[in-house]
Amino acid sequence: MSRFFSGKYKSLVPYTPGEQPKEMQYIKLNTNESPFPPSKKAQEYAQKETEHLELYSDPECRDLVKTAAEYFGINTDEIIFTNGSDEVLNFAFAAFCDAQNGAIFPDITYGFYPVFAELNFVPYEEIPLNDDFTVDVNSFCNVNKTVFIANPNAPTGLALSLDDIEKIIKSNPDNIVVIDEAYVDFGTESAVNLIHKYDNLLVTGTFSKSRSMAGARLGFGIANEDIIRDLNTVKYSTNPYNVNRMTMAAGVGALLDNEYFENNCKEIIKIREYTKSELKKLEFTVTDSKANFVFAKSDRIDGKTLYLKLKEKGILVRHFDKEKLSRYNRITIGTKEQMDALFSAVKEIKEELK
Ligand code: PMP
Repeated sequence: MSRFFSGKYKSLVPYTPGEQPKEMQYIKLNTNESPFPPSKKAQEYAQKETEHLELYSDPECRDLVKTAAEYFGINTDEIIFTNGSDEVLNFAFAAFCDAQNGAIFPDITYGFYPVFAELNFVPYEEIPLNDDFTVDVNSFCNVNKTVFIANPNAPTGLALSLDDIEKIIKSNPDNIVVIDEAYVDFGTESAVNLIHKYDNLLVTGTFSKSRSMAGARLGFGIANEDIIRDLNTVKYSTNPYNVNRMTMAAGVGALLDNEYFENNCKEIIKIREYTKSELKKLEFTVTDSKANFVFAKSDRIDGKTLYLKLKEKGILVRHFDKEKLSRYNRITIGTKEQMDALFSAVKEIKEELK
């Protein structure tokens, strides 16, 4: 820390992103990226847009907003695009929380929520998950705080039903409820259709996972127009050009190429279910993940050891040093070949540790 660093951030502990190694070619199953390339249409649109990079991007993201509004069946003033969904989540903490209006989220969830809370000086409460990692729905009802729920949750992959989500939204009419749907396309029902029923609902989403665009950084928020206007106030007070021209164009291409998107989601779901059954055969306990990753612990090998041994063998998974999670690893769903390589490596490690 330099002597100039503001005292207001002295205790800020930044988010630790998953490793993005350059030194060797790993099988990367650690940051929930898609193993498939972005749609050809997305690539072509982005490439074409490079001809206009001398010009700023459209702060209103009009082409993308129009395409997305048609896609989601919403009005054009009910969506905001951001630099990854991380940005819209940060905007939500900034716009809807303060010292009087705290935030609430599960103790095991996306690790960025407490960081955004700290960054925005928002007091927050972390509600313990049940022992089976499910969210205790009742502890998020009538809470008088801004609620953040990832559905499906990370790193557990467990999803709440839409009825439970609706119960939480309904019981907190005077607070915003943010449903983070980063992984919704892998088999969970979206809450987007509820935005016309509840004026306190904000749904966030991303092109990083199911649309293979993590490197382009494209996220969004969907809510009624008043909420979107508030988020835009924060956006226009930080960076009106938060989505660059190539990403915006790629986003349009991706949305227009729905068949590619749907096939990829189906494939990931198929490989996820295969992964669950193979890991169980290898004596793992695996949560019933509805995301593009599984959360698994070996009955024999401790989580950190497995992570390190896999890394030695060129396979990266994500290990969290948090007490309740330390026996587990979060493993992104890759191609069938990548997952087969993982199972072979696990078998070898089990032999080595005998
Ligand atoms: N929400 C959850 C639950 C996530 O796991 C992630 C990815 N790390 C994000 C949001 C943010 O993803 P992105 O900024 O790439 O859209």
